[in-house]
Amino acid sequence: MRRWLMAMALIPLVALGTARGTELHKREGQRLHWHLRRHPVVALTFDDLPAGGDLLPGDTRARIAADLAGQLRAHRLKGVYGFVNAVELEDDPDTQDALRIWVRQGMNIGSHTWSHPSVNDVSAVQFEQEIARNEPALTRYADGRDWRWFRYPYLQEGETLEKRRAVRAYLKDHGYRIAQVTLNFNDDDWDDAYGRCLAKHEDASIAWLEQSYLQNAAQFLTVGRREEKIAFGREIPNVLLLHETAFTTRMLPDLLQLLHRQGFRFQSLAEVERDPAYNVDPDAALPEGGSLPNQILNSRHLAYPPFTPEPEDRLSTICR
Ligand SMILES: [Zn+2]
Repeated sequence: MRRWLMAMALIPLVALGTARGTELHKREGQRLHWHLRRHPVVALTFDDLPAGGDLLPGDTRARIAADLAGQLRAHRLKGVYGFVNAVELEDDPDTQDALRIWVRQGMNIGSHTWSHPSVNDVSAVQFEQEIARNEPALTRYADGRDWRWFRYPYLQEGETLEKRRAVRAYLKDHGYRIAQVTLNFNDDDWDDAYGRCLAKHEDASIAWLEQSYLQNAAQFLTVGRREEKIAFGREIPNVLLLHETAFTTRMLPDLLQLLHRQGFRFQSLAEVERDPAYNVDPDAALPEGGSLPNQILNSRHLAYPPFTPEPEDRLSTICR
């Protein structure tokens, strides 16, 4: 309904012709900006397939993949990208099943390198070999769909400008697009604690994990959108980084509800990255890496909006 109203609102602007083109273009841009502010757009993405986080006793990778993909489908989300480290597929029927299930359920796969090194810790050539080594598995499992999307492990793109440029050139030459991130709340930092609390049947602690996870998510969804305004002067369609862990799978219904409450609409990764903001290359040595807005803020020495850090200490000590 709202989308229909918005479309109607734009028709007169388009229909009036070019006489006051610039002014209309500006007004239309403002309206679209307003629209994005009220109804932000997001593509969900999942890293570390097919084996994100530690496996809990009695659980399987196939169970997690089926649960996650099933929930996405129930929300009419298809073609969600999962970024794969093929090293995990070697000699493990469970991870192989997990990846097959993910793709069979209509989800897509992209590359996260073969064994998940930070590009900061290896040479450009070694990193490129990691990308190449991942390709046979991607070809085998992708069911003919586009797997040439690349997600840098740890969101790090190189500690020197020379290395950063070399790897980017390699990716471009080999037809990859970089699956940039705009929204990230370190969802995987809850997974170890969840495993410990579950093993000890500490229900009150699990309740705290759930509540703090959602609180942290809500905060960083807002902070990420503020960072975009600083980096780009406007909000842009988003890419949210999540991980294929047991805890994020458990939390997905609540997380999707939170996104709906904040007005988010879902789009595919390809649709989102059509926005010209995704062509921006900070082109600087940024050893700590980070989301695209983070990299732009850091390369231009711009100030971050205020935020409360995640509860790192409690996450590392809870249920010990
Ligand atoms: Zn990863």
